[in-house]
Amino acid sequence: MGVAQNPTTTLPRAGVAQGQKTGSFGVVTTTLDQAVNWGRTRAMWPMLFGLACCAIEMMATQASHYDMSRFGMELMRASPRQSDLMIVAGRVSRKMAPVLRRLYDQMPAPKWVIAMGDCASCGGIFNNYAILQGVDEIVPVDVYVAGCPPRPEQLLHGIMTLHEKVMQEKVFTR
Ligand code: SF4
Repeated sequence: MGVAQNPTTTLPRAGVAQGQKTGSFGVVTTTLDQAVNWGRTRAMWPMLFGLACCAIEMMATQASHYDMSRFGMELMRASPRQSDLMIVAGRVSRKMAPVLRRLYDQMPAPKWVIAMGDCASCGGIFNNYAILQGVDEIVPVDVYVAGCPPRPEQLLHGIMTLHEKVMQEKVFTR
């Protein structure tokens, strides 16, 4: 049985397949790793907490002008059990360190950590006994964002860097 032809349809240019011309490829191939990681990077829910001045920039990143929603991240969760991204926004005092570690432990795997700002990354200007000289002393950090404070563009760059990293992960080995 023949396929009905639209008489107004023009022939594709040389080198362009008919499927490309109409946009209907019909079949998509991918790997399980890529499919799962694509889902993870498009629905990464950050935990809702801030420690110091960097948190103001994190709030600005979430607000309408910068709009983290476009990454599927509009839901900042108030519970670690519903979060898979911890953005450590600000300096971490030694008194706060066990609390932060407990929150990390309560997050379901897989989970990721961004150290936002100089204080979270290396203690910043607070080179003293009361402040952790980097949150990587107590939790594994995936991405460090430099700055005091980092601008929202820098945090967004850190998030996109994390997405690139997650896309390289092996789903069943983490
Ligand atoms: S890096 Fe700067 S802005 Fe961020 S918490 Fe430290 S002092 Fe505050």
